[in-house]
Amino acid sequence: MYYVAEVNKEICSAKNCHLCTTFCPESNCINYSEADKSAFISVDRCKACEICVYICNDVAKNNAIEMKWIEDLEDGFVIKRTGIVLR
Ligand code: SF4
Ligand code: SF4
Repeated sequence: MYYVAEVNKEICSAKNCHLCTTFCPESNCINYSEADKSAFISVDRCKACEICVYICNDVAKNNAIEMKWIEDLEDGFVIKRTGIVLR
């Protein structure tokens, strides 16, 4: 079990900002949805480095990303030995 980053889509979509997507060190981990006008995290790729939290909250002052215990994510997950399965 571990923490992962989660984007608050309501806050992010009001900011018209892509900043965090250029700083995450993991490829294809933070992407931007033009449909939602929001960044989103591929949680199975997140390594919990918290760089995106620093960029969004401390640099951009947007406060749209927080670290969450993976079991507390709004979208449910099933944790298996073989990986993470979206419910
Ligand atoms: S915590 Fe690190 S790895 Fe996870 S989304 Fe943020 S920048 Fe990427
Ligand atoms: S830095 Fe924050 S406000 Fe900007 S795209 Fe990322 S989550 Fe959204």
